[in-house]
Amino acid sequence: MTPLMEADDLAVDYQAPGRRVRALDGVDLTVARGETVGIVGESGSGKSTLGSAIGRLLSQNAQLSHGALTIDGESLFDLSAVQMRRVRREKLGFVFQDPIGSLDPTKRVGAQLRLALRGRGASLDVTGQLERVRLADPRRIARAYPHQLSGGMAQRVAIAMAMATEPELLVADEPTAALDSQVRDDVSTMIFALAAEAGTSILWLSHDLAAVGRRCGRVAVMYGGRVVEDGPASEVLARPAHPYTHALANSAPASAAPGERLQPVPGRPPVLTGPSPGCAFADRCGFAIERCRSERPRPVRIKAQSVLCHRAEELAGSAALAVHGVG
Ligand code: ATP
Ligand code: MG
Repeated sequence: MTPLMEADDLAVDYQAPGRRVRALDGVDLTVARGETVGIVGESGSGKSTLGSAIGRLLSQNAQLSHGALTIDGESLFDLSAVQMRRVRREKLGFVFQDPIGSLDPTKRVGAQLRLALRGRGASLDVTGQLERVRLADPRRIARAYPHQLSGGMAQRVAIAMAMATEPELLVADEPTAALDSQVRDDVSTMIFALAAEAGTSILWLSHDLAAVGRRCGRVAVMYGGRVVEDGPASEVLARPAHPYTHALANSAPASAAPGERLQPVPGRPPVLTGPSPGCAFADRCGFAIERCRSERPRPVRIKAQSVLCHRAEELAGSAALAVHGVG
């Protein structure tokens, strides 16, 4: 069966003054219908670039350098602007980190929700949509302007808009990162519940391996613009097969409250000026050998995980990648 979303060797570059940034360096990823996939990686690993590429929402200075991206078998970069708008309207939903910024400041919530619903041919039951995202007093919210709402309320409105037409895929780019810690969990729970009800697949982009692992069926770990490990969430969390995933898992304080920021992995993120000649993590990896700097790793299967590491098989047979506190 055709996957709902498929990225095949996807490379995206940004042209910035005086330099080029290779933000995606050959991403392979699929999302099946109804699947919930977490994309985890530190700042700059390419999560948002991947999320925006899926809606063809990349900034003007971005360029698709090679590879393909399909939704339901349709090759996104071959579609006309009109066809692309149809795919976005009918199949995709987006929720971003900044809820106020994703709403129109000049229009009352009800008016913009109605516009969004009409554009998508959905029922115009604005209060019903606001009730679905558990906003108390939906009539009052419908009359409010975005700046009159708390961050949590505004994000619920944005979620109502994104989910109004029950999209096939919801791309959620750190949707709770800007919210108060007390409401984060509620908002995440609500998004997953609405998506499950509607049969919507989720691609959830986040820094937080443990939080994503608790909610998603699958986790893909990004580093330096590539997916370095991809597998069932429970396996990736308990038995990471890539040294970077291992470092991420062990940098999470065991006592961390849900949603708390991870301690960073020691070392500096890679400089992404072009395709990496070897493994982008080699400079920070305690297991790197000469080959890791000179030859790009190809995916290796370790149990249910797909891993981009020259030493994956060897490390899997040792205790080197054990996670603290997991037996
Ligand atoms: P974060 O966790 O901070 O949101 P991310 O994983 O979402 O990070 P991206 O925003 O996709 O990462 O960025 C990937 C790389 O591309 C980074 O090096 C970033 O600086 C660069 N980049 C992103 N957007 C642009 C842009 N419009 N112009 C130039 N470079 C960009
Ligand atoms: Mg981002």
